[in-house]
Amino acid sequence: MNKNIAVIRGDGIGPEIVNQAIKVLDKVAKIYGHTFTYTDVDMGGCAIDKYGDPLPENELKKCLSSDSVLLGAVGGDKWNDVPGDKRPEKGLLRLRAGMGVYSNNRPAKIWKQLASASPLKDSIVDKGIDFIIVRELIGGIYFGEHKTEGDTATDVLKYSESEIERIGKIAFETARKRGKRLCSVEKSNVLDSSRLWKKVMHRLADEYPDVELSDMLVDNCAMQIVKNPSQFDVIVTENMFGDILSDEASMITGSIGMIPSSSLGETSLGLYEPIHGSAPDIAGTDTANPMGTILSAAMMLRYSFDMEQEACAIENAVSQILDEGYRTADIMPQSEEEAKKCQKIGCSKAGELIASKIK
Ligand code: NAD
Repeated sequence: MNKNIAVIRGDGIGPEIVNQAIKVLDKVAKIYGHTFTYTDVDMGGCAIDKYGDPLPENELKKCLSSDSVLLGAVGGDKWNDVPGDKRPEKGLLRLRAGMGVYSNNRPAKIWKQLASASPLKDSIVDKGIDFIIVRELIGGIYFGEHKTEGDTATDVLKYSESEIERIGKIAFETARKRGKRLCSVEKSNVLDSSRLWKKVMHRLADEYPDVELSDMLVDNCAMQIVKNPSQFDVIVTENMFGDILSDEASMITGSIGMIPSSSLGETSLGLYEPIHGSAPDIAGTDTANPMGTILSAAMMLRYSFDMEQEACAIENAVSQILDEGYRTADIMPQSEEEAKKCQKIGCSKAGELIASKIK
């Protein structure tokens, strides 16, 4: 198959981690007889420096005409003083909205080799952590009107039934392919938008009798994720709650550097990115963990290109280097004794090793 991948390296560690994912994709292409071509797209701080705009129209067009988009990360202190509508993160919001990707899926899974890196007690981790958060991505408070008048600031949180329904369908479908348990998370004891959310989820449940739907308030969910994460299979929630809960969920798995994500809408054109940011504190040091980005590339193969075998080959390659004791700095064991059994590697070496294990 021939696929054109739009590549946004972005800022900070973005270029380093994306380059590793490309090494791995190239190896997949070679072994499985595909052709991947890469179209460079400027977005974020680097685009502000070049064009004075975090995502010029022409760069967005390149993404829209690609088969899928692979993103590193954007942002950094350098652009902190840029006005709100020109900040690097605005480029990302515009990209998500422009691509119409309204569903962000983030797996929270413990790799057995990294279980000791979880900050949770062994008794909790041993029960297994493997759930997905399906987050609504282009609605809610991040996309409502924002204004400041005198000493008062307002942000509008708004959802329509159709916006809730389309994300709900993705969540039910996801649950159907997994453990058939869906937990809808909201704040219906306070917010009208959450009461609408709950009503629509329950209406949809009639179409998915094989999926067990439960409701949970977001504050309780934040507690349950650390107290008893094995209870979850799929969580569906609105944009801001999902943003916060998925960061919490990533922490309990040990490292933010290991977690991929996919964002999809109505078509197979998807946006694939690790969940972490541009980590300016370690940019240029070859110490970043590229595995979240490499695993995002695997999700791209699975969800956008229908290449299940190739996606598994990448995931197995990552698992294999972990089995062999290779660790980037962020996932090195804390205890000296455990650390002696591992070999610390840099970003580039991690990419090389994973590519070399593709079967
Ligand atoms: P961050 O995720 O960049 O970093 C948080 C901590 O995790 C840092 O100590 C960093 O060194 C570490 N870390 C992150 N990714 C890592 C990796 N792959 N390997 C090893 N360590 C890793 O979050 P932050 O510091 O809050 O944000 C930095 C910048 O990134 C900000 O400008 C922020 O707006 C931006 N950001 C961008 C995205 C995105 O592009 N999707 C997401 C979040 C934050």
